[in-house]
Amino acid sequence: MRQPLVAGNWKLNGTLASIKDLVEGLKSGVDSIGNVEMAVCPPFVYIPEVSSLLAGSKIAIGAQNMSRHTAGAYTGEVSGTMLNDFGVKYALVGHSERRASYGETDEKAARKFVAVKENGLVPILCVGETLVEYERGNTFGVVKRQIDAVLDFFGVEAFSGAVIAYEPVWAIGTGKTATPEQAQSVHEYIRSRIARCDEEIASRIQILYGGSVKAANAKDLFSQPDIDGGLVGGASLDADEFVAICAAANR
Ligand code: PEP
Repeated sequence: MRQPLVAGNWKLNGTLASIKDLVEGLKSGVDSIGNVEMAVCPPFVYIPEVSSLLAGSKIAIGAQNMSRHTAGAYTGEVSGTMLNDFGVKYALVGHSERRASYGETDEKAARKFVAVKENGLVPILCVGETLVEYERGNTFGVVKRQIDAVLDFFGVEAFSGAVIAYEPVWAIGTGKTATPEQAQSVHEYIRSRIARCDEEIASRIQILYGGSVKAANAKDLFSQPDIDGGLVGGASLDADEFVAICAAANR
């Protein structure tokens, strides 16, 4: 049985004051939630503060990005070693906003994915089609290409202990959500793609859904057999909403 995971992606949001309020709200709200892994991904500069505020809580920390390099002349980058210094557990890889705005290609995402693992962190590989690709009926083709980039470079073992987030780009921040059935069909496809190489790894990997997840739609999405929780953007900035989404993942 896979443990559900709900991760909040705060993106480029928050101030020192607002994240303190948010974390206080999360800490008191998640106490009664039993069987769900939870994480928040703050902007890098707030990781030390959030890490100390969350010490002893059930909520883990994730990074929104990570350099694939360990050290050197890479201005503006943050390494896995640095993230480890602050107890970071997860790192998002290949988020669609980074693919669209920062040149994160399938190959770069695959190399970063493996660097995250090599640093002992858990990569959350984000995959998903744009609206144009969706309208052309190319959802499975895009997701296959994004997953295969990791499989081709590093083999199926790379997915052992990793997380995948299916995030249709047309659903991110738009208020449009894939129906539970639509999302389930893609999640099932992703799992089957990995199962072709290794059934055990496929049966264990957590596959999250992301794209305008809210308290109101979380339960229906998370009740699908291959949806193991969510990657939540906007709604993760509201403590009550995020806590309710985490509670909806409780099986
Ligand atoms: C995201 O940024 O990964 C995301 C899913 O955002 P939202 O929940 O706001 O659509």
